[in-house]
Order: sequence, then structure tokens, then C-alpha cells
Amino acid sequence: MKLYEKYPIHLSNSLTGAKEKFESIHPGFVGMYVCGPTVNNYVHLGNTRTFLTFDIISRYFRFLGYKVRYVRNITDVGHLVGDADEGEDKIGKKARLEQLEPMEIVKRYTEDFHTVMRQFNILPPSIEPSATGHIVEQMNITKKLIELGLAYEVNGSVYFDVKKYNQSHHYGILSGRNIEDLMESGRDLDSQDEKREKIDFALWKKAAPEHIMRWPSPWGEGFPGWHIECTVMSTKYLGETFDLHGGGMDLKFPHHECEIAQATGANGKSPVKYWIHSNMLTVNGQKMSKSLGNSFLPSELFSGNHKLLEKGYSPMTVRFFMLQSHYSSTLDFSNEALNAAEKGFKKLNNALASIKTLEHTSSTSVNSEVEKNILGLVDSCYQNMSDDFNTAKTLAVLFEMASQINTWISQKELLAQASPEVFEKFKTTYISFMEDALGLKEEATSNNDLLDGTINVLIGLRKKVRTDKNFALSDKIRDDLKAIGIQLKDGKDGEMSYEIEN
Ligand SMILES: [Zn+2]
Repeated sequence: MKLYEKYPIHLSNSLTGAKEKFESIHPGFVGMYVCGPTVNNYVHLGNTRTFLTFDIISRYFRFLGYKVRYVRNITDVGHLVGDADEGEDKIGKKARLEQLEPMEIVKRYTEDFHTVMRQFNILPPSIEPSATGHIVEQMNITKKLIELGLAYEVNGSVYFDVKKYNQSHHYGILSGRNIEDLMESGRDLDSQDEKREKIDFALWKKAAPEHIMRWPSPWGEGFPGWHIECTVMSTKYLGETFDLHGGGMDLKFPHHECEIAQATGANGKSPVKYWIHSNMLTVNGQKMSKSLGNSFLPSELFSGNHKLLEKGYSPMTVRFFMLQSHYSSTLDFSNEALNAAEKGFKKLNNALASIKTLEHTSSTSVNSEVEKNILGLVDSCYQNMSDDFNTAKTLAVLFEMASQINTWISQKELLAQASPEVFEKFKTTYISFMEDALGLKEEATSNNDLLDGTINVLIGLRKKVRTDKNFALSDKIRDDLKAIGIQLKDGKDGEMSYEIEN
């Protein structure tokens, strides 16, 4: 029996609003697509949470024995500044401002994105296609939608005819909207005179003379609309119907709604069986946003170099912190919560290091109650993760297991209460749930404590020599540490902190 049969996954499907038993279209295989980043800037934490959510989901499918094809795209053209059909292309705008080629922008921020994903131990997808690599496919489906009467060309741009589509399908099925309300409430946009209805959306846009990114097409020089790229790339690599589509909650409407309409219109069937949306991040209870000045980058969170942060936190601490909430709940950042997470992760991390070295010796006094309890914990890990990927509840079980590990470390004779088989099952479950299912890598905390102590001794010395006005020696301490990758930072009131450069 496969693990996914023993512990079948139930997940909350945004399409139906119900928790459903997951049954893959092809037994044993899972095809999943997640909307990737628009690479016009450094990846922000909100996005990181989305990608962590789907990292957990793809890891757990594999953990239970499914073969997974995970496609996550890179948006390098077509996403306009206004998120609708207006304004400059996000990549093109950044290229113009920085006087670089659009592909230089794409390269820079794709690399940053990959670095951050590695820091958080978010595994790469199986395929990472880019929008500019699929221009031909985007033109082809646009042609097909015109032929089917579901799209129309005006002045070199092509728009999807939402009203026409809605005659035979439900536009708004995912987000619970209906076309009448949408037609009432839609914004009035400049290009509205081109569109038959303001709810129509662009499949292809004519490029204005100043637009840098452009391709020849049957409708003149232009570029693809934002929504069509995901339809094209998911269909190409996963088929016309696939198991799971994910993304941040902010993408549900209009982006994912448009994906459903395009694919259903072109292929005559609904593209996705299960939709999953991850919730947003807040900071001290407020929505995280650049304009409120409360958004920070992952690198600022690691270094503590931000006015809202008391100190820096390791990537695994932040990963653990995010996993303490279910992906469908909002997640609030505060110094208190991060400090608590740091303590919590340390406990699990220490237990991870301990259990790896713990060997079972004898089973002279096997106690069936103890064994039952141990096996119950093992079972709970699977039950909780199979219940809509509930990382929060799984971590609660891992804490109980960590307490058990600590008991064994301090009282080795108690190990004899479990048979070697039961002990091994416990040991492999703890290690594999930490490292494989949840992706929480062991961090060398004892070394860090030692290093931290040593640097603080040097900081103390440096403070002293500065009070003695021996600035030459003070500078030497700073420069010598810098040479080995440790940067001292002088703060207010003579306080000093340090940062380890990567
Ligand atoms: Zn998308």
C-alpha cells in the first residue's frame, strides 16, 4: 500500500469552497502549476510565503510517494504596471529607469529570486518556463480563440470576449463573482473604447512606439497579455486538464479567473481540478506594503537591517515561523513572534541533532503503553499533513516528539521501553518530517553560539579601546573581522552589532 493510500490527502479546493479528498487524474502522478514571480524587482516576503506554501505541498506529495511534475513560471513580459491592461510593462519600465536591457533586468531579479529560494530551502520546480520563451504558443491560442469567436481584434490588440464566453460558461466561477456585477463595477480605462466591454481582457497588446519588448504577430508588432502566458505554459507541460493550480490569494481575480476562461474557451474543458490559494502576510497586524513602509526584503529579515526589526533571524527560523500558520490564514510578523519562533525552532533543531546520534541498545523492558504513544505520534504527523497540509498541527506533534527525544537523552535507560523497530520508526519519522516534508534543515546552533560569544568578546574589547581613544586598534579589530567576512556595525549610543556576510 502506498503512503498516499494509507494517508489520503484532503485539501481545501478554492474552486468549490469545500475540503475534498485529493484524487489525481493519473494515479500516482501529480501535475501542479504555480504562478511564479514577475522579475522586475527583489522578491518580497509575501511572495516568499506563497512559494513556501507550494514547496510544502509539492514536497508532501512526493513524500507520500507521488511522482510530481511541478511547473512554476517566470513572468518576464506582459505584466503591466496597473495589473490590468493599462500602463507600461513592469520589466520594460524598470529597464527604462535603470537604462538596461529588459533581459538584464530579468537576469538580475531571477538570480535574486533563486538565491532567496535556496536560502529558504525552497526546492526548484521541475520546469521553470518563461513567458518570453512561449510567445509563439501565446499567439497560437490567441488565434484559436479568435477563430472560436471568443476573442476579437481591434487596432492591433486582441481582447477576450467575456460576455460571449459567459453565454455558455460561468465567468467568475472561481472568485464567486458574476458578470452582471462585474460589468457594473469595473473601472473605466483608457483603452475601454477599444474593448467591447470593460470586463474584456487583453490576450495580445499592440506595442506603442516607446515599448521596448515587442514581437511581430498577425496583428502587428506587440506583446502578449499577462493571463495568457500561464494558460499556455500550464497546458504545454501539464496537459489541457491537470491536478492542481496554486498562487497567492491576490491572483484569484482576475488572473486565475481569466486563466480558467481562456483555457475552457480554447479547449472546451475546465483546466484545473483543484485550486489552492495562500493567504497574505501582515506586519504588526497591518497589511505589508511598500507605501506603508512596513515591507521588508528577505535579506533585511536575515540581517536585521530594518527599522522595524530588533535583530536578524536565520532563514530556517523564518521558514519555521511561516509554517506555524496554516497557509490559508494570514500570517503576522512581529518581533515577539519572530523571537518566539527562534526559540521554538531551536528546540526542534536541537532534538534533530540529538536523535541523529541516538542509537537504540536494548529492549529489556518494552512497555506497550509507551510504544502505543510513540506510534501515535508518528501517525499524527501523517494525519495532520494529509489534512490540508496542516504544518501548524504537524509542528505541534514534532514538539511532543522533541520532548520525548530530550527524555531519552537525559534518561537513556528509558529507551529500553520501546523495541528497536518502534524506535527506528520514530527516529526516521522525526528526521524525515523535519528535513524532507517540512524542509527544516539542521542548523549548527552550538557553533553559532560559540561564534556569537567570541565576536561579542571582540566587540567588548573594541568598545574598551575606543573609550581609551585607541582608534588605530579599534579600526584594526573592525578591519580584521571584515577581512574574514564579519561586518561590525556601529549603532546608536556606542552599541555594536555584527553581521556575517554570505
Ligand atoms: Zn499565472
